[in-house]
Amino acid sequence: MALEEAKFRQVTIDAVHLDLGPLSGVVAEALLFSYQIACNGTPLEGSRLVIREVPIEVYCPACKTRKTLTSMQWFYCPTCGVPASEVIHGKELMITGLEVRDERRTTLAGSA
Ligand SMILES: [Zn+2]
Repeated sequence: MALEEAKFRQVTIDAVHLDLGPLSGVVAEALLFSYQIACNGTPLEGSRLVIREVPIEVYCPACKTRKTLTSMQWFYCPTCGVPASEVIHGKELMITGLEVRDERRTTLAGSA
């Protein structure tokens, strides 16, 4: 677990990168808000949550290609109108990376 490792290594996490799809059921604004609260008192306190919003991408069996949807209401191919057979992207709720600052190597803060 990344958090346990961060505690152990005495590092500060600057930012958490997250992929978020519209079909995950999570709203980016709500997630950002609760993130700050959830991080209080943890090694993540003061870190930024960087959300990359992933577009909805489906597979159209008629065009035999992937199509990016502009609306999450209609799962039809924007080109030919055939119902999409498979959702490829858009359900993501996934941490993709951490920006870590190692206190032992970097002295960013001035000491009193
Ligand atoms: Zn199509």
